[in-house]
Amino acid sequence: MQQTSKNFKTNVIKALHDETLQQAMNKAKGGFVEKRRIAVENLPEFEQIKQHGIATKNHSLDNLADYLEHFESKVIENGGQVHWASSPAEARQLVVDLCKQADAKSIAKGKSMIGEEINLNEALEAEGFEAIETDLGEYIIQLAGEPPSHIIAPAVHKSKAQIVDLFREHHKPLGYTGSLDTIPEIVNEAREILRDKFLNADVGITGANFMIAETGTTMIVTNEGNGDLSATLPKSHIVLASIDKVVPTLEDCSNLLRLLARSATGQETTTYTTFFSGPKPRPDGTQSEFHVVLIDNGRSEMLFNEYREMLRCIKCGTCMYHCPVYSNIGGHAYGWVYPGPMGSVLTPLMTGLKQSKDLPNASSFCGRCAEACPMSIPLPDLLRHHREKEFEQRLSPASQRWGLKLWASLAKRPALYRLLSGIGIKTMKLLSKNGRVKRLPLLGNWQNSREFPAPTGETFMQQWKKNKGNKA
Ligand code: SF4
Repeated sequence: MQQTSKNFKTNVIKALHDETLQQAMNKAKGGFVEKRRIAVENLPEFEQIKQHGIATKNHSLDNLADYLEHFESKVIENGGQVHWASSPAEARQLVVDLCKQADAKSIAKGKSMIGEEINLNEALEAEGFEAIETDLGEYIIQLAGEPPSHIIAPAVHKSKAQIVDLFREHHKPLGYTGSLDTIPEIVNEAREILRDKFLNADVGITGANFMIAETGTTMIVTNEGNGDLSATLPKSHIVLASIDKVVPTLEDCSNLLRLLARSATGQETTTYTTFFSGPKPRPDGTQSEFHVVLIDNGRSEMLFNEYREMLRCIKCGTCMYHCPVYSNIGGHAYGWVYPGPMGSVLTPLMTGLKQSKDLPNASSFCGRCAEACPMSIPLPDLLRHHREKEFEQRLSPASQRWGLKLWASLAKRPALYRLLSGIGIKTMKLLSKNGRVKRLPLLGNWQNSREFPAPTGETFMQQWKKNKGNKA
């Protein structure tokens, strides 16, 4: 997918003026937050499970190489193969080669964010494979030629009317002209088309929510069962997973699952939870192939830098709807695969800070994301690291850098700071009208949608001294 994080500000303006998007976001955001809240409240031991999950992920990361090697040996023991890819290009090539080996024409894909991260669909199409997304949301955005706008609800930005138009445009040539007035009618039409794709697929590609080292198992959760059909019917099953997905045991995995479902969709458990532990017998008596492609893409570097905690992420997406910025602009504005607070941390790490320098600033630092995160990832702190780097690398605007330097220098000289802030407050008071200050020099567009309340005319220190004097 083409990265447009560089155009973040333009994307935001477009998103804020897109009425359909705004309606879809308004409808979706409250629902997700509320469902999660109820699910968490209904599980008194949620905090205990959360702490256990965090400890599991920390332990897995501390021993990542060992668990990955153990996982590999178990997959091989089970009759499967493990392939290692350090970059997206290597991962794409590996998958393309595996599809060629399987003499594939048609590929059924389950939902996989890592597939989006490595831009797999484009590579498969360029090699002449027909790759069909089988998760309903992914299928919709594939028809629309768009990237996902949320990691668990990829088509959340689409209205029903837009989906009906898409289906009519793409399904009419296939002979589908029936009514699409209701959600079940829409779902049934997609189901009929996808059933055929499952039956004819030569290769199935799925992601993995977790990989279990002790058994060499990969696991996925879905609500549609499409992942199971993608993995079970074709003669070859390829699992794509980033290296941070490995956990030691089945118990660890089941504990994390309790956090994932509640945090992602407010469900106690997802409709389908499927474990894959190697090749499967096929109806014609042959065995299917089982491949796991393990992708690094900068994660082993993150293990040893200040972004390590981000590797605990279980991709539940809860930080997105708890973020006031994401809730207003949706996912596409972020311009790459991962939106919202977690995306604003990951995108600069994976695509370069220069390409995405606005993302770490797309946060009010309210901390709601970190509070809601089931892995307690300190997202605002990680965003702050990016901001520090922007400052060091001179990626932030010169006016901002000079402003910060000036402020830092004044903060070290209290007498001068008090004198100047006193003058500043008096000036603001003079510039105010009806209790508000409309525009101040140097603040530029920041004031387009904000007004300062008029100051009282005294600084905090002046008021404090006066109060102290009165009390004495
Ligand atoms: S950062 Fe936390 S809340 Fe956001 S997707 Fe990852 S685990 Fe979920």
